[in-house]
Amino acid sequence: MRKVVKFGGSSLASAAQFEKVGAIVRAESSRRFVVPSAPGKRYAKDTKVTDMLYGCYALAAEDKDFSLELRAIKERYEEIINGLKLELSLDNEFVKIESNFKAHAGKDYAASRGEYLNGIIMAAYLGFEFVDAAEVVKFKEDGEFDAQLTNDILSERLKNMPNAVIPGFYGSNPDGSVRTFSRGGSDITGSIVAKAVQADVYENWTDVSGFLIADPRIIPNPEKIETITYRELRELSYMGASVLHEEAIFPVRREGIPINIRNTNDPDDSGTWIVESTCQKSKYIITGIAGKKGFCSINIEKDMMNSEIGFGRKVLQAFEDNGISFEHVPSGIDTLTVFVHQDEFMDKEQNVVSAIHRLADPDMVDIEADLALIAVVGRGMKSMRGTAARIFAALSHADINIRMIDQGSSELNIIIGVRNEDFESAIRAIYNMFVLVQL
Ligand code: ASP
Repeated sequence: MRKVVKFGGSSLASAAQFEKVGAIVRAESSRRFVVPSAPGKRYAKDTKVTDMLYGCYALAAEDKDFSLELRAIKERYEEIINGLKLELSLDNEFVKIESNFKAHAGKDYAASRGEYLNGIIMAAYLGFEFVDAAEVVKFKEDGEFDAQLTNDILSERLKNMPNAVIPGFYGSNPDGSVRTFSRGGSDITGSIVAKAVQADVYENWTDVSGFLIADPRIIPNPEKIETITYRELRELSYMGASVLHEEAIFPVRREGIPINIRNTNDPDDSGTWIVESTCQKSKYIITGIAGKKGFCSINIEKDMMNSEIGFGRKVLQAFEDNGISFEHVPSGIDTLTVFVHQDEFMDKEQNVVSAIHRLADPDMVDIEADLALIAVVGRGMKSMRGTAARIFAALSHADINIRMIDQGSSELNIIIGVRNEDFESAIRAIYNMFVLVQL
């Protein structure tokens, strides 16, 4: 058994958190490859080290004094080192960082030091070997992640190592300069390492016990999702459920390596399993509910629209020409509606409307703002009658008007449009119907 274990920033924010991580890694000898994030927040109003580094480098980039800011970052690490009673000094590392900042080594280099230094501490604490991610995670000239080259280098490097610490979030460009993934990118590094060592499991340790059926800010203590497929996860993440970086699934998905989301503060909880496919039924018909506010619908009417070939294309052309992507396009006989993100659309609305008139010659174009979309996702829906009926019954009992319905062609999800102000009550009504009242 071989596991890759990635720990998020809140799991590594202090010496006390490091101790929990140490206990988790030592509990199983299969936990051989560790991918740390940078120290995150110790309390709600705290600042992540990554953000401190960005702030500090912004001063350096303008040739302003950044000594106080760098000192504060060093103190975060010293607090951890002293708390763990390690014989380790980062003085030389900070001398190097300071001179590289002065030489304008770049924002990515600056941010990457968060994981780099945490990796050095983690390796010393666990007695594992440290592998600098810049040597093994590679990007192409155009900035794209080089999956093939990385896999070749990384698998070769880790092949004979009993264990190692590989910092998350960064790698290097062909010229050797450091490049980071987007924020939260240590999740991607963990997945890349899991692929390279052909791990049996990629454990992703964070501060929640996995994915929840619904947003806990809306539903108090929602139930946890035990098992979710990659496709379901994609639908829910797209609609706002965030625990894992969106791109983290790709390296392991192709290898059939499952991801297990675990809670550093509650290691006995089995967490959520993310798998390619499963014969395990979810406990409820639905796997999860997620949604987002801030959509607009553009309603277009034209008599005899149904018989006009190319009408839909012309309407969508108006959006494409203005660089706006659409979310859903439900249609009736003489009507067609296009859902878009309100913030993307707002500045360009009149251009789009006039383009629709010019290209498609409709009878009427009407815009409705402040709508929310809710995705009810579940692999079990396909083989179940009455799911849509139950959603609609739940919403009608809650006195919520449904503005749009769209069932994905995979029958994995049903999307519902409601007014922004009905968003929370709609989610509550659906959750109650499927999770609390089990028929
Ligand atoms: N430290 C980086 C961030 O705050 C990357 C990560 O934590 O995954 O985004």
